[in-house]
Amino acid sequence: MKKQIYTDFLIIGAGIIGLSIAYKLKQQFPDSKILIIEKEKEIGFHASGRNSGVLHAGFYYTSDSIKAKLCKAGNEAWRNYCEENKLRINRCGKLVVARNEVELEGIHVLHKRGVANNVILDVISDEEATEIEPKAKTYEKALWSPTTATVDPIEVILSIKDKLLSLGVEILLDVKFIHKTDKAIQTNIGEISAGYLVNAAGLYADKIAKEFGFSENYQILPFKGLYLYASDKGLKLKTNIYPVPNLNNPFLGVHFTVTAFNKTKIGPTAIPAFWRENYKGFDRFNLNELIDILSVESGLFLANKFNFRRLAYEEMAKFYKNNLVNLAGSLLYEVDDSTNYSWGKPGIRAQLINSKTRTLEMDFKFEGDDKSFHVLNAVSPAFTCALPFSDLIVEEIAKKIN
Ligand SMILES: Cc1cc2nc3c(=O)[nH]c(=O)nc-3n(C[C@H](O)[C@H](O)[C@H](O)COP(=O)(O)OP(=O)(O)OC[C@H]3O[C@@H](n4cnc5c(N)ncnc54)[C@H](O)[C@@H]3O)c2cc1C
Repeated sequence: MKKQIYTDFLIIGAGIIGLSIAYKLKQQFPDSKILIIEKEKEIGFHASGRNSGVLHAGFYYTSDSIKAKLCKAGNEAWRNYCEENKLRINRCGKLVVARNEVELEGIHVLHKRGVANNVILDVISDEEATEIEPKAKTYEKALWSPTTATVDPIEVILSIKDKLLSLGVEILLDVKFIHKTDKAIQTNIGEISAGYLVNAAGLYADKIAKEFGFSENYQILPFKGLYLYASDKGLKLKTNIYPVPNLNNPFLGVHFTVTAFNKTKIGPTAIPAFWRENYKGFDRFNLNELIDILSVESGLFLANKFNFRRLAYEEMAKFYKNNLVNLAGSLLYEVDDSTNYSWGKPGIRAQLINSKTRTLEMDFKFEGDDKSFHVLNAVSPAFTCALPFSDLIVEEIAKKIN
């Protein structure tokens, strides 16, 4: 027999955002009953368990953005959290390198943004860059970010999950939001009614929001992030090495990450995906999504919005291992031919697009009222920002329900 459940707060999605919101809600409303439903059999199956694990420092974002306001605090919060809870963290920093005169300009733009956001950051010479990482190649100057670090995202989300369980928050796995009913929501285990609903459903946040009358002008477009891992005996780097990104889109360009386990990986790409959970082959294939996404992508391609044609061509070419290795190699003095690379677990970015202006939303985005709240664009660096972002969301929710 199907169950009938009541809860004060119902959260859809046990990614880092849903879990962190539950954590902050419990602090704000300690006596409330909080339930998280997650459609997968495990937590961290999607973006939160498939990302680069980088705690960004906060210098990419213009100071008027929510990302800029939260990133430094988020970086500090996870660094402290990892230390207190004895979780793995690699305080390896990050070099942003320039490949030419134009990118050198970009270094200065990023430095200005970082200074405006109160981030510890230095413009250093090419010699100083090679003192930090002898293999890093830059054109005259580089940007050094000592506070960038890497964590194991799975370890972090499992730790938050354990904290929630000990606080009495309930997490139901394998339970999927199907649709909204008059006074409740329908799931595969029956109806759940809630005093307040929070939608943190990642790749499906827009769809769910639409059922509640939100996300009117938005749609999620999935972009696939592939990773190549250097073999254990291959390339080893002391720090993360990133290029100067194209600041007109939200992606950071192909880079080298030094993981929390001291492994070197290349990626992630930002390849337009054809359905929302298009991780590998035809797994999780969804025809309606394919039709929908192809129609949006062909519109972007024809109108060449935000230089989509070039993005699509350049990104598709990254399906080829050698191409990806060579691209990343342009950040180093020499491409190490003896290193073997193998593909790792890909991630998919739930990138929000404004369907009216056909532009990518660069900042975090949320909407809500006194009944429900919808996190629509929790793109990178949302993992880094998850704790202060959830403070902000809980503050917004408290205003709406009081
Ligand atoms: C390749 C890649 C690299 C990245 N690198 C970084 C990085 O280095 N640093 C950083 O700060 N950020 C990074 N990010 C961004 C970061 O991973 C995301 O911003 C963050 O994980 C978003 O968390 P989330 O909880 O919103 O989404 P998710 O982790 O996707 O969680 C949403 C959950 O909702 C569930 N769900 C969906 N629909 C339903 C339904 N109908 N019913 C029940 N449950 C449902 C899903 O199963 C999922 O578990 C990266 C992202 C990607 C893809």
